[in-house]
Amino acid sequence: MGLYQSYQGSRIIKLELCDVHLTSVDCVLFFTSSISVSFLLLSFLLRSLREYRFSLKHIILLKTDNSAVLNGKSAGNMAVDEIHAANGVRSKHDFSGLKVNQSRLMDGIHSGCKYGAAHRYGEDPTETGMARLSLNDADKQVRDWFMATAESLNCKTSVDQMGNLFAIRPGKNSSAPPIMMGSHLDTQPTGGRYDGILGVNAGLEVLTVLHENNVETEGNIGVVNWTNEEGARFPMMAVSSGVWAEAVPLDTAWNLAEVSPGTDGQRKTMRQELERIGYLGPVQASYRAMPMACHFEVHIEQGPVLEIERRRVGVVKGMSLVSLTGKY
Ligand SMILES: [Zn+2]
Repeated sequence: MGLYQSYQGSRIIKLELCDVHLTSVDCVLFFTSSISVSFLLLSFLLRSLREYRFSLKHIILLKTDNSAVLNGKSAGNMAVDEIHAANGVRSKHDFSGLKVNQSRLMDGIHSGCKYGAAHRYGEDPTETGMARLSLNDADKQVRDWFMATAESLNCKTSVDQMGNLFAIRPGKNSSAPPIMMGSHLDTQPTGGRYDGILGVNAGLEVLTVLHENNVETEGNIGVVNWTNEEGARFPMMAVSSGVWAEAVPLDTAWNLAEVSPGTDGQRKTMRQELERIGYLGPVQASYRAMPMACHFEVHIEQGPVLEIERRRVGVVKGMSLVSLTGKY
């Protein structure tokens, strides 16, 4: 499940890639506040699909427009529309030279997938599916991995009351709400290695490219990992991003009991499990405490449609929208 949420929490837009049979991504990175540009994301995603292998080659930097107003300032004021040449920092004319490292991205995906790997289908160490249910021991391990990776990129990390993880790379205007990328690291019991995992790792790869190229951005840029986005263990999908959006009360989320009882016969609640693995954070789970200029998610839903139709590549036919307030 993937969600694109506005900073106001008033809009939740699900980008469905259900007909896309995994696999490759050509360009990703949209620094924009315009929702319409998310369609470009899909276009780029689909441009060079190749079965079973990702090809994430290019970073595309797009200037933000002024459609989002944050605290009286336009998003354009804090966007990544300027990169200065002074002090060894890249000129904005160097944008085209920034490229993600696709083998590093794949290594990152597989590195994190050590935690919760399951359902082997081949000889290669990476040829497994995933069973990393939210807030279980493997989820704790991959969270530790995520935080360590982000901190190695000089990101500031924080954890909110729902265990949502935020890694933010400061820009020149460090008080500006960050442009966020990300998704979720939890999986279904019979999940795959991409899904939301791709979205989180793609965000980390983007930060890595910015870091290694000494790019100073105007505003902050970060990656988020939303807790229990799949809803497989605690039966409410997107519950923690929902709390952040103030669409789900915190207590409702905290008191959600897991679907299947543990070995002790007890059904643990989200709050109990957040405490147990050490990810019950201090930051208020709300867009007010953790505002975002915008949020981009690369995400792959996996379904049998293409296999059934014996096709190698699918095309996104649309996106579904859920409005919490009636406006979007
Ligand atoms: Zn998902």
